[in-house]
Amino acid sequence: GPRIGILALQGDVREHARALTDAGAVPVAVRRESELAEVDGLVLPGGESTTIGRLLRVFELLDPLRAKVAAGLPVFGSCAGMILLARDVVDGRPDQPLIGGLDMVVRRNAFGRQVDSFEADLDVVGVPGPPVHAVFIRAPWVEKAGGAVEVLARVAEAPVAVRQGSLLATAFHPELTGDFRVHRLFVDVVRSSGFGR
Ligand code: GLN
Repeated sequence: GPRIGILALQGDVREHARALTDAGAVPVAVRRESELAEVDGLVLPGGESTTIGRLLRVFELLDPLRAKVAAGLPVFGSCAGMILLARDVVDGRPDQPLIGGLDMVVRRNAFGRQVDSFEADLDVVGVPGPPVHAVFIRAPWVEKAGGAVEVLARVAEAPVAVRQGSLLATAFHPELTGDFRVHRLFVDVVRSSGFGR
């Protein structure tokens, strides 16, 4: 299967590795540019986007990642990873580093303090079968999206899963439920992208 990196600076790396293996990929931890150079796709796990952004600078991965995204590297960002793929963030920290790539603005911690975490069953475009049980933890939503961004799922009116070309993002955590159909969708995106071949 394709070699799919998991950015391993912070977040639930092990759960994504298990999900990717189940979905037919070979997971690889990525902490340095030389490791980034060897993957066919990349997962940005959840965690704290401000911390991950700061660590991307410390590990000198921010510019290499931006270049890889511009060159067509398929990336799946979950929660904090979704924020990192946005072009701008509302309620972010001032100067919080973003990778960008998706033509969208996200709102950080969008669901409010009273509802830090919740779960919902969502129909996700591109994921066949029953609804996806989605776990949201201090999640963002998509506040504004350009025409090239396809909305794959919503909670009420707010987009919570999107795709633009080989970039995929969910506000929720598909690695936590044992249902790895979203990871399978991403592995299909990686396979059909032909990136690096
Ligand atoms: N609230 C976090 C952030 O702003 C995201 C939470 C998560 O990834 N579960 O980055």
